[in-house]
Amino acid sequence: MLVSMKQILDRANAANYAVLAPDIFSEIDARAFIEAAEDMNAPLILGVAYPTTNDLSFLGRITVMLAQQSRVPIAINLDHGADIVQVAEAVRGGFTSVMIDCSMLAYEENVARVKEVVDMVHPLGISVEAEIGHVGSGEDYEAGKGLTDPEEALRFIKETGIDACAVSIGTAHGAYKGTPHLDFERLEKIKAMTQFPLVLHGSSGTGEENIRRACRSGINKVNVCNDLLKAAYTKISGTELVGNQVYDFWPIIADTLRDSVKQQIDITGSTDKAWNVTGPGLPRGAVTMKE
Ligand SMILES: [Zn+2]
Repeated sequence: MLVSMKQILDRANAANYAVLAPDIFSEIDARAFIEAAEDMNAPLILGVAYPTTNDLSFLGRITVMLAQQSRVPIAINLDHGADIVQVAEAVRGGFTSVMIDCSMLAYEENVARVKEVVDMVHPLGISVEAEIGHVGSGEDYEAGKGLTDPEEALRFIKETGIDACAVSIGTAHGAYKGTPHLDFERLEKIKAMTQFPLVLHGSSGTGEENIRRACRSGINKVNVCNDLLKAAYTKISGTELVGNQVYDFWPIIADTLRDSVKQQIDITGSTDKAWNVTGPGLPRGAVTMKE
């Protein structure tokens, strides 16, 4: 079933677990991830970002159709929305949540732009995620850079009226240069002060133990992309496709993505956290080639 991100994250916040938020590029990975969520009886948040598609509203619409057929709660979120035009495109595509990322701007400007989006989409029942502090790129990773100030986070949440807050505690987007150092003390302080749904960006390459601890320490949404693509790439690279087996190309990718997401759902602690589970769910075997 299609739900807002707020419905998913308020429950996760109240019961102290996290929900996985993988980025999607197409129908193939969207199906694989929803199937994984159904297998794990878990809620799921699908992220779509502009760098991965130039046709956001189309991808949104087909993903809405998949989510509506699902037997578990699914939210569709604009990942790293840059401006109000991208937000409007996501609304047109049926997204149930948007992230507006102005974390690189000065505090007052960040608040003003986020508030504008909150005022625009809340009347439509659409949730808003925004970021305070700044999660940078792993390519120029530097431990301790751009970390979220707990008091500023509390002020940011109150002044913007958002539904989920992305925080910077030592992770980075993409592959890390060096070893990630997570500031769990800072995370625990932010959680204690805000009691609010918190989001972790840049979980790929951060390590299972770090992610498990972050989910125990106040994170409620874990964004992941790079690790999933890497798993699919590694599988395909190591698979020799001969003759008509080449038709197995997409199913191999779909199977690998599904298995990887199931493992990660388990790490976040959201297994069996789906509610109102009814109906047969998504028709299986859509990504197959039968001779
Ligand atoms: Zn991110």
